[in-house]
Amino acid sequence: MFGKRRLFVIMYFFAAAILMLTLTGDGSKALQRMSGMNYSKVELSAPEISAVRTEVVLMNDTPWETTLYKITAPVKGPTVMVIGGIHGDEPAGIFAADEVSTWVIDRGTLLVLPRANIPAIKEELRNAPGEADLNRVFPGDFAANAVDKMAAEIIKIIIEYEPVWVIDLHEAEYCERVLPGALGQSLLYPRKAGSMDIVEEVQTIVNRSIYNEDKHFMLLRGVVLGSAVKGALLAGSEAMIVETCEQMPLEDRIQYQLHVVSALLYTLGITVY
Ligand SMILES: [Zn+2]
Repeated sequence: MFGKRRLFVIMYFFAAAILMLTLTGDGSKALQRMSGMNYSKVELSAPEISAVRTEVVLMNDTPWETTLYKITAPVKGPTVMVIGGIHGDEPAGIFAADEVSTWVIDRGTLLVLPRANIPAIKEELRNAPGEADLNRVFPGDFAANAVDKMAAEIIKIIIEYEPVWVIDLHEAEYCERVLPGALGQSLLYPRKAGSMDIVEEVQTIVNRSIYNEDKHFMLLRGVVLGSAVKGALLAGSEAMIVETCEQMPLEDRIQYQLHVVSALLYTLGITVY
């Protein structure tokens, strides 16, 4: 009996000594290793991205007041502008641009104007009530109607920040493949486009991920006078229009728009996080 009790006492002190060792000095590291706690100290190898987002209010104190988001990556690179909501009844481009305004990029600058035509968006109409089509008045005029001022504001931003690309997000009622001239599911680029190879690469990347070939994006050449894309070209940028097809579910259209924008950024060497 006595021998057993002495053995317990010795074991008790021995266990207490081990516990003390593990809780202090090198012992704590051993304890952390056993419990896995040291994993919290492992440095992740993912690049540290610290893009900064700033907001610029356009058309201040007017019914057209809207926000331009400027996302600047820590590494220099190309500037790209994304415009949504030039037409108020084309929601996929607006929601997609909203999401792009939250993106983090590893290089360059993203300028995002998700809601270019606020009065039209509020009414879910193509044009602002009583105003002309915003996509026919570029490059705009600060001395004319509100819609002309809005166009002039956008051109002013393009001249100030000199984006290499401007991508304008729109929607069409029907698909171009089903009804030629309808424009849905197409990428439009101007006849004088200098970087047609980039538009073709964007088309290839996006279509590769669309299983159903009936939903593939077509390339259409030529954009109308007075459009934002035409204005961007005059201001020195490359530019293209995305048109999704409203016969498809809204969520799919938003994803197509996002894919086109990310594919353009990818071809320009910008990674989205
Ligand atoms: Zn449109």
